Amino acid sequence: MECVICSNRIRSSESHNAEPITTGRCCSRCNVQFVLPARLSVVFNIPATEVWDVVSDSLADLEKMLTAPSIGNSQELNERRTQIEEGGGSIEEDLIQ
Ligand SMILES: [Zn+2]
Repeated sequence: MECVICSNRIRSSESHNAEPITTGRCCSRCNVQFVLPARLSVVFNIPATEVWDVVSDSLADLEKMLTAPSIGNSQELNERRTQIEEGGGSIEEDLIQ
């Protein structure tokens, strides 16, 4: 099937209700970019473009979080772990300081 907004091919299992933008099914990208902001703009009584500004900021933050190295693998922590394993201190000392 085709997204009724951008015409990209989509699987019906991945499609979304495109109302109130239009009738039919849309892709996930159009759902997030157009349909959800349009629905939220009605609920919060603000322009859909303002909703999209907030959504796109949140998506950018989410992408940063997902692409950033996890805390458990950070270089700083690994170096500290090595120091402790080599007898260069302990977690208790860190807590006292
Ligand atoms: Zn689409």
